[in-house]
Amino acid sequence: MSEVGTLHAPLKVEFDYTRSLGPTLSAFMSALRRRQVLGGRLSDGTVVVPPPEYDPHTLDPVDDLVSVADEGVVHSWSWVPEPVAGQPLDRPFAFALILLEGADRPVLHAVAVESADQMETGLRVRARWAQETVGAMTDISWFEPLEDDSTDDLAEAPVREQEGDPADLAVTGIVTPVGLDYDYAASPEESSFFRGLADGRILGQRCPVCQKVYVPPRGACPVDGVPTSEEVELPDHGTVTTFCIVNVPFLGQKIEPPYVSAYVLLDGADIAFLHLILGIDAADVRMGMRVRAVWKPPEEWSTTIENISHFEPLDEPDADFETYRQHL
Ligand SMILES: [Zn+2]
Repeated sequence: MSEVGTLHAPLKVEFDYTRSLGPTLSAFMSALRRRQVLGGRLSDGTVVVPPPEYDPHTLDPVDDLVSVADEGVVHSWSWVPEPVAGQPLDRPFAFALILLEGADRPVLHAVAVESADQMETGLRVRARWAQETVGAMTDISWFEPLEDDSTDDLAEAPVREQEGDPADLAVTGIVTPVGLDYDYAASPEESSFFRGLADGRILGQRCPVCQKVYVPPRGACPVDGVPTSEEVELPDHGTVTTFCIVNVPFLGQKIEPPYVSAYVLLDGADIAFLHLILGIDAADVRMGMRVRAVWKPPEEWSTTIENISHFEPLDEPDADFETYRQHL
């Protein structure tokens, strides 16, 4: 571990966004699975792909769905020189607004060409269907120039016949993975805090004006607007100020509910921080309860707050409300 410079670490936030489709988009997605593109006819006679759920003029549900071609012309486009993970192609490609034959408004999709030189407004393109269709926009892998005389079967993939009862085959929901993957850079003060944790110490900083102790340190007092340079080592015990009992399971949860997430005000600190309370029945946790940090074995320590596994009750009387009422 370097003592020079600030710390940084990868941070990944991700979840699956699940959307139920409703009748209009369910029909659209179900058709994609059959390798068919549907548009919605609006009250003014225009055909829009994908069909909007409600007519923007009359606000009525759009239920007049018509089949449009899976080929058309590029309306406008933007080149993607460096694709990122999850995009339709893993090599440079274009995002384009494509006006499909039979539609009056263009649809956004990817166009696969060798270079940006091959892209132009008016370029005729056709859908390249995925080998396995599931009822999603990605059933069209991308579009490609029509004059590209590929003999590949997939480009010519026939419309799949619907099997069985159509109701059984309706696509009623889609799952969209959402991800944010970045490198978090800690401030010099946070870096000092995290390096302290790697030594089993909890470091805060005191404001020279109001004398408040901030942990983790912010580098400046938000009240007085002055730098906080005096380092303060805090004990690893304190008082539960507020808490919540987590009863709802969620993706990536590490502990089985119910469990308690609480604000712990370390003795000598002026702001509380969030951590887990374990070693006690969730129903018995209360405001004012005295707790201490339970550290992981030192050989597992690194520059992370996770060196503290959780907090557990101390065998002490509860703190008087007056001692923490200013810190709620
Ligand atoms: Zn201050």
